[in-house]
Parts: sequence; C-alpha cells; structure tokens
Amino acid sequence: MQKVIAIDGPSASGKGTVAARVAAALGRAYLDSGALYRLTALHAQQQGVEWTDEAAVAALAAELPAEFSGSRVWLAGADVSEQIRSENIGMGASAVAALPAVRAALLQRQRDFLGVAGLVADGRDMGAVVFPDAELKIFLTADARVRAERRAKQLHIPCTGIEFERILSDIEARDEADRRRAAAPLRQLPDARLLDTSHLSIDESVKQVLDWYRE
Ligand code: C5P
Repeated sequence: MQKVIAIDGPSASGKGTVAARVAAALGRAYLDSGALYRLTALHAQQQGVEWTDEAAVAALAAELPAEFSGSRVWLAGADVSEQIRSENIGMGASAVAALPAVRAALLQRQRDFLGVAGLVADGRDMGAVVFPDAELKIFLTADARVRAERRAKQLHIPCTGIEFERILSDIEARDEADRRRAAAPLRQLPDARLLDTSHLSIDESVKQVLDWYRE
C-alpha cells in the first residue's frame, strides 16, 4: 500500500482545490499531474513542436525544465502559473496527454513526488497507472453545468449567455476527448470511491475525503 491519496476526475471538478487542501491538512506533498501535461504542451508550443508529434513531444517531456514551489510553477526559469491555465493550453495538454510516449516520459517524474510524508495526487490516472497501490482512491466529479458555473465564476463571467455556453461546451468536449482516448481514458475505477461535488462546498468535499481517509 502506498501512502498516497489518488483523486481522479474530469476538468473543472474542483479536484485540484480539494486535493491541495487535503494535502495541507495531512502535512503531505501535493501533485497536480495536470500541470505537468500543461507544461509539456506549453513547452512544445514555445519550441515550435506540434502537439501531435509524439516522439518530439515525448523528448521534451522527458527533459521538462519545470519547477514547482507552493502553488507556483516555473518553466525554464519563467513563472508560467497563470499561462498554463489558459483554455488553449488546456486543449494542448489534452492533446499531448493522448500520446502514450508522453505519458511514459512523465511517469517517473510523477512518482518522484512521493516522499516520506506521503502524497495527495490529482489527475486522470493517478489510481489506475501512476499510484495503483494508493491507500485511498477517489473519483471526484460534478455535473458538467455545475463545473461550467464554477469556471465562469472564476473568470467573472455571468452563468448565462453565449460565453457561458462556450465554457460549457469546452468542458464537455474535453470530457469526451479524455473519456474516448485509448491511453489512460477518464473513468471511475472499481476500487475508487465516488465523490459527486455538484451539491457540496469545498469544505464539505475536503471533509468527506478526510473522513474516508480516517475510516
Ligand atoms: O486537470 P487538468 O485540467 O489540469 O488537465 C489538463 C489535461 O491533461 C486533461 O484534459 C487531461 O487530458 C490531461 N491529464 C491526463 N492525465 C493526468 C492529468 C491530466 O491525461 N493525470
């Protein structure tokens, strides 16, 4: 059994916020694995490498000049914490994440986050591939419309109208792409607990994870 809480789920589900809060509560390290795919997509873009060029992107992923400190992320010495959160880089992350050689290149890097204090890891395949022996596996999700509303609030956009509908369709498109791909498709594992946060606050979600952990 690995000292890991694996939290997988779709985009904009709030799993990153919940995972980071659980890590802080337990004094554990936190891995935002999506950030590694986002950094890889940004790095490829900056190097003029197409997101579909599997060998070239995998080579960049293997030598990714990334550093993490608290909630900040650096790429080749530049703070890219905000830049990697754009919808464009999200799409790029989803594209490079569909390439098996890229996933293989990032595997050990993700495992290296596990130190003596233990880890809370969030992503799509934490429980299935990266930490299959995690002590607790959770599939954290929420209704697509609720997720779109959360994203809209972050961006200070009203939860009705064309812009909102675009956010919703982007979320649904990325869910669909992540579910349909052959490499590490998004799904709930049989040994993962389902945490549907559609009607839960962040505090309630964090409490539920900690309750399961302490069971
Ligand atoms: O979680 P986040 O939205 O930052 O992830 C960006 C993209 O990276 C996802 O749409 C998904 O395709 C990919 N990803 C993945 N495996 C992970 C984490 C993220 O395939 N463990």
